[in-house]
Amino acid sequence: MKTSKFYLSTLREAPSEAVIASHKLMLRAGITRKLGNGLYTYLPLGVRSLYKLEQIIREELDESGALEFKSTVIVPGEIWKESGRWETMGPQMLKAKNRGEQDMVVSPTAEEAYTAIVRDGLDSYKQLPVNLYQINTKYRDEIRPRYGVMRGREFIMMDAYSMHATQESLDETYEEYAKAYHKIFKRLGLKIIPVKADSGAMGGSGSEEFMVESPIGDDTLIICPKCGYAANAEKAACAQDNPPSVKTDAAPEEVATPNVFSIEDMEKFFNASPKTFIKALIYKATNCALDLTKVPGCEKWERVKDPAGDYYPTAFFCVLIRGDLDANEAKLAGLVKASEVELAEPEEVVAMSGASHGFVGPRKVNCPIIADLSIMTAKEDGTFEAQIHDAIAGAGKDGFHVKHIEPGRDFVPYMAADVRLAKEGDKCACCGETFYQKKGNELGHIFKLGQKYTKSMKVTFLAENGKPATPTMGCYGIGVDRTLASIIEANNDDHGIIWPMTVAPFQVCIVPIRYEGAMKEEADKIYEALKAAGIEVLLDDRNERPGVKFADMELIGIPLRITVGDKNLPNVEFKPRSAEKAELVPASEAAKKAEEFVKAELARLNG
Ligand code: ATP
Ligand code: MG
Repeated sequence: MKTSKFYLSTLREAPSEAVIASHKLMLRAGITRKLGNGLYTYLPLGVRSLYKLEQIIREELDESGALEFKSTVIVPGEIWKESGRWETMGPQMLKAKNRGEQDMVVSPTAEEAYTAIVRDGLDSYKQLPVNLYQINTKYRDEIRPRYGVMRGREFIMMDAYSMHATQESLDETYEEYAKAYHKIFKRLGLKIIPVKADSGAMGGSGSEEFMVESPIGDDTLIICPKCGYAANAEKAACAQDNPPSVKTDAAPEEVATPNVFSIEDMEKFFNASPKTFIKALIYKATNCALDLTKVPGCEKWERVKDPAGDYYPTAFFCVLIRGDLDANEAKLAGLVKASEVELAEPEEVVAMSGASHGFVGPRKVNCPIIADLSIMTAKEDGTFEAQIHDAIAGAGKDGFHVKHIEPGRDFVPYMAADVRLAKEGDKCACCGETFYQKKGNELGHIFKLGQKYTKSMKVTFLAENGKPATPTMGCYGIGVDRTLASIIEANNDDHGIIWPMTVAPFQVCIVPIRYEGAMKEEADKIYEALKAAGIEVLLDDRNERPGVKFADMELIGIPLRITVGDKNLPNVEFKPRSAEKAELVPASEAAKKAEEFVKAELARLNG
């Protein structure tokens, strides 16, 4: 390709709304152009990289045994009503009516479309599994589209779905996707952090996210540098690390502490480590589905009857945790089966504990106590074992604390469970190494769906035993644009993009200082030789100053540049984009050397 024939559309400055490197560079290099909020068009340069990325995904998924299909983007609202998601998807789903006044959906995802299609042809277990993927347009009316194609409204997703007669068959396909994903991201030169969802127990997970480290990531990851344990901070577990403490027979002793409100105040007043304190926090849970009808103090709480399970619109819990630790609200919400938990309001704290925040004590609360594992653990027989002894806690009346608290003797919890917020510096529960913390961005996920859609959409097949059965499903996704942007995010410098060879729009560029005379002759010769060798080469034949041409080629990130200048002939400059300096090579050897360079890079990434 010659630049004069190509639609190269570079910008010196990025629009001010672009704040991250990939967004700026995609606009500056002429990879994408904004058409509307969250709507980006790919220009010819971008399409070349985009299609290469899609092709890598195709090759690895084909290799893994998945088959490509392609659903329509606009689908009947009918199937979304069947699954129940017509109501539950919320405003991110774009709905429309056709001329016949029928409800339509612009696909935000395709579980319904896949399930409806496969259901209609399914009779026997012999037809299963059905493992299909597509690379297709999705639309989500994201409330805050941002960072360019990282979070667009229209975007491209590889979405795959599998239907199975047995759990073993689903497990097998799930593992195939995990393997294929690792190969895909390796070929793209991306360092992936796989994060299992039920990260408390290693392995045996029903869902896994494939994250890249990124300062703009929406997730915080807790990572073990030794054993590879990685978990979303919302779910991460860590090793218990209580200092030794000795059980006491001393009776609880109230101490007047009029000006002691915070843990730091307690540290000073008692001249003791916060690791010897029990922090008591009153939490309010919304739509709590636990059954607390027999728990003292909760008998009179309002409980709503519901066919899907009775629940408390509002419930309260007293969380006990070691003084230096924080509670993790996501873990707590999961534990108490609530849609949300938050710290209770001051008057609610008083109602539940008889004291203000800071003086709440484990001995006097009107709601169930949840002890973190730093305070107590549960034994198999349903009793609890203290993990901290002779502790200091709030007294349950304002202006007082109490010493010599013994868990089990002075209070009994309703539950003992892990509600601790794991942090950088905590120790790994699997291997004991110290955790570090990173921001992460999700590029893909794999998920065992189970029978959610096959049940609601009434899919059945005749099982091997001749009886009708409901199949189980898996779903798998990769954000294609987000992955492309993440490659740029991980590979750039002050001058522009540094494409990995596997997704570079062109593999080599040739820049003649001026496209005339001997320089033109040599440049053309190298160009023809590279084309003949099957290398994707861009010859910058524009009548522009060399500085302009260099800047453009660096901005668009071609991995190798060959510069043909009359001062250097019969040598030419050979400069990998990622190298500091150019080296001189004989013009006659340049094409061969460039071909070798391209092939070595491809082999390194694809290998
Ligand atoms: P997120 O938490 O980022 O919104 P999600 O959980 O909604 O992602 P999925 O439904 O799992 O996403 O979709 C699969 C993949 O599609 C995601 O891993 C992500 O890479 C990509 N993706 C999702 N939403 C967008 C978007 N608005 N723009 C670009 N890519 C997206
Ligand atoms: Mg989302």
